[in-house]
Amino acid sequence: MRATLRIGVLAVQGNFREHAAVLRLLGADVAEVRKPEELEGLDGLVIPGGESTAIQRLVDVYGLDEPLTRFQGPLFGTCAGMILLGRDHLGLLDVAVARNAFGRQVASFEADVELEGDDVPLTGVFIRAPRVAEAGPEVDVLGRLRGEPVLVRQGRILAASFHPELTADTRVHERFLQLVREEGHVRA
Ligand code: GLN
Repeated sequence: MRATLRIGVLAVQGNFREHAAVLRLLGADVAEVRKPEELEGLDGLVIPGGESTAIQRLVDVYGLDEPLTRFQGPLFGTCAGMILLGRDHLGLLDVAVARNAFGRQVASFEADVELEGDDVPLTGVFIRAPRVAEAGPEVDVLGRLRGEPVLVRQGRILAASFHPELTADTRVHERFLQLVREEGHVRA
């Protein structure tokens, strides 16, 4: 695997610029993805938050639905991106997601997320965030808000119900890049 990781960010709607900025800060080579062929050669892909209905619609319009389900590399979905990865959309992550389940726009909030294996909590920004209503047996919980799962991993897939791209704390993106490195070794 190359020393510099090449990470794609699905750039059809939502917070793709913010994710790209964090990934660049961490040394990744970032590519915006809008066409199926732009998935080629990527070491990993981020599906950002935004509006899941709009993202799914644009994914369909750009012919990305099937290529995304075939993408073999690590995936990281945040907020609407988690919804896209879940059972009701791409079906790559074995979770049932309840949309907007933490309240309406006015109920968006910041709160401490307890990270697995880290004593220092992380500030999570929750914007009309989805709730993990049910998770399959393969899904590990890596972060919790008041005991509830908000950061989960299933093999090569990482998903957060909050927005780690909106705070200066880069730990969640670092975990994703770590996962990309580990999976790269597995696949190589
Ligand atoms: N509420 C949005 C949705 O259902 C997700 C919000 C977000 O990504 N910040 O798609």
